Amino acid sequence: MSAEIVLSSDRGSFTDYSGANPLGYVACMPHRLVPRILMDKVFTPPMKSYSSGEAIDAPYALRKVEAIISGSGYRSVAVAPPEKLSKIVDRSTRVLGISVHDPYGLSPVSTKLSLMFGGGRSWTAKFFEDLGETIVSLKNKYHFTVFAGGPGVWQMDLQRPEWVDVVFNGEAELDLPPLIRKILSGEPFPAKVNGRDPKVDQIPTIIKPARFGEVQVTRGCPRGCQFCSITPEMFRSIPMKDIMAEVSLNLRAGHKSVDLVTDDILLYGSKKLETNHQAVVDLFRNIREAGVEEIYFPHISSPAVKDSPETVMEISNIAEYDKYRGEIPVVGLESGSTRIIEKYMRGKAFPWGPADWGDIIVDSAGIMNDAFITPCFTMTIGFSDESNDDVRETIKLSERIINSGSKAFLFPLPVIPITRSRLKNNSFPEADLLPESYWELLYVSWKNDIDLIRRMIPDLTYRMNSAFMHKITGTMMDRIFGSIENMFRDLMETRGKKAMDYGRYDLGSAMGLFRSFFKLIRSPAVKTALRRKREGYSKTY
Ligand code: SF4
Repeated sequence: MSAEIVLSSDRGSFTDYSGANPLGYVACMPHRLVPRILMDKVFTPPMKSYSSGEAIDAPYALRKVEAIISGSGYRSVAVAPPEKLSKIVDRSTRVLGISVHDPYGLSPVSTKLSLMFGGGRSWTAKFFEDLGETIVSLKNKYHFTVFAGGPGVWQMDLQRPEWVDVVFNGEAELDLPPLIRKILSGEPFPAKVNGRDPKVDQIPTIIKPARFGEVQVTRGCPRGCQFCSITPEMFRSIPMKDIMAEVSLNLRAGHKSVDLVTDDILLYGSKKLETNHQAVVDLFRNIREAGVEEIYFPHISSPAVKDSPETVMEISNIAEYDKYRGEIPVVGLESGSTRIIEKYMRGKAFPWGPADWGDIIVDSAGIMNDAFITPCFTMTIGFSDESNDDVRETIKLSERIINSGSKAFLFPLPVIPITRSRLKNNSFPEADLLPESYWELLYVSWKNDIDLIRRMIPDLTYRMNSAFMHKITGTMMDRIFGSIENMFRDLMETRGKKAMDYGRYDLGSAMGLFRSFFKLIRSPAVKTALRRKREGYSKTY
């Protein structure tokens, strides 16, 4: 099969993470620390495709772009995994579109992990580089035009790769078809496009199945946090009939579960940030009644949870969450400092005010736990005027959550000056520029998280495709997380300087693995352990 328009993305995005979404975070690690074989076999394995090279399932964003292009009258369009581009691209290919998430490893999670582990490119950046090499060699042969879009395309505002002809920011429905038309008809086209927001009736439904049975239910977020790239988007709820059409399509393709794409599931059907209980409940009920066995969602907000606990409980009942099959959505905690909340995210706490933020967070954690939902609280630390006192307020709020007995992950992230956000005057984070207390917050958070992960590993990997991979991943994660508490203590005590030591390790290749092992056995701690073992103290280890 060949296609005039081909869509793809790098392997960090075009994978099913062995069936367990949380494993995707491993791709944000410096690539020298995770051997390629583990990425290929466990964390980001290639997805299956037809013999033609066309994808069977694909990430939702690519499926949406495929529907937009196809609905505009261009029928020769295909989505392919990056490993199959050489098979599907040929002389009839005129346009190649890629969706990017973290092309240079500058996302908050990649930046945080780089700061912690002594720097180096993330796997997300490495995968993007691999994709670039494939595309350059095909482009030299077939001379097609490349456009790039997606949530990480803001990074190309900083530097556009030479092989990308058009950087497409924003939503695709209104402005991508005219761009395609210009390219195909040989007219001049711009190097940068800012896609306008369509109305809901201008958003087509996907025409082929999406990975994880993904279905979008909302777009945008009205809370208006300055640091967030979602902020500029107009908030919309997707009509129920379109959602159900996509659910049915995914079901027919064999998916039994649905991942709802949203920035806050309780925003569905809302007006002016008021939770629409009936709309959210109808959404879950309709999806279940269509024959879906499992429903998951990636984001929920604490104020909405506190404002409508009955909605949270009812959707949990409909989805049949229990202690073996719960939900772990990302929830923005951001800061414990009222000053920071008030200055950078005034709408965050609505319908309450910034001064109520701590109570909202603690209360929402309890409500979610009662509904078998474990929040993963993310924090944004490092605003240009953020002081140690501000960070200490965040540590206090973290300790309040822990002492309340609620189960919650705590995940401090550095503030990233995303070019599309409204944040001004913030530079990219460096270890020296972060408030000193950041490292203490990191230690408090990880100590809590390690303890929680050990208790929850069976639930976290519940959705893995293979029982064998489920078992070895569980064992591996338990070992890894069980041995790193001291690392976080060192980072806290040295205020991040210890991270430079980890910069010496390279586990990404056989030679790197051998060198790292050699460095490890020559380290003082291991030398002492070996000496004591020789002296007969082995039982103490
Ligand atoms: S609530 Fe979340 S999604 Fe909405 S603007 Fe704030 S950070 Fe962005």
